Amino acid sequence: MLRVGVLGVQGDFEKHMLALRRAGLAAKDVVEVRLVEHLNKVDRLILPGGESTTVGLLLERYGLGHAIVERAEAGMPVWGTCMGMILMAREVAGRPNQYRLGLLDVTVERNAFGAQVHSFEAPVSVEGFDQRLTGVFIRSPVVSQMGPGVKALAKLEGKIVAVRQGSLVGTSFHPELTDDTRLHEWFLKL
Ligand code: GLN
Repeated sequence: MLRVGVLGVQGDFEKHMLALRRAGLAAKDVVEVRLVEHLNKVDRLILPGGESTTVGLLLERYGLGHAIVERAEAGMPVWGTCMGMILMAREVAGRPNQYRLGLLDVTVERNAFGAQVHSFEAPVSVEGFDQRLTGVFIRSPVVSQMGPGVKALAKLEGKIVAVRQGSLVGTSFHPELTDDTRLHEWFLKL
């Protein structure tokens, strides 16, 4: 049985929960995660888009960040979209004090495509997918450096916008904001 959690502290978590339903999960198997006890009920976790500074502070304050790291290190697949990828990073460029989980051996650069007015959509070729996906980029980060265990899955304008490190995945863009559930289906099979 597969039960998937979506971190529900702040951000567009409801969109991910709907996308998981569209990808075929029953309502009871899509869980909003705000406390450690919610995390204990799920087999994998999505960290949505939102504000990484705010969510980082809350993860630290309630001990949920620590619990997520423990589960991820024990093999739980985790996928971060946009803010989620920032939270998963080992380093945030120019912000050494920003709270992060340090799961992905990467450095991310926040707002790497400009400010909110510079949000845009672009077709993205993701490794392993025959047809391109529509990438929705909203003040998105990019991966500016990565360790040897990390694989780039997609680039846009020469910048890395999707990575995988074993069962950990990060995307700069928001598949949950499109009708296309291919990435969600792929994550369910990881
Ligand atoms: N720029 C935001 C941050 O740094 C992330 C934006 C998003 O998740 N869409 O937290």
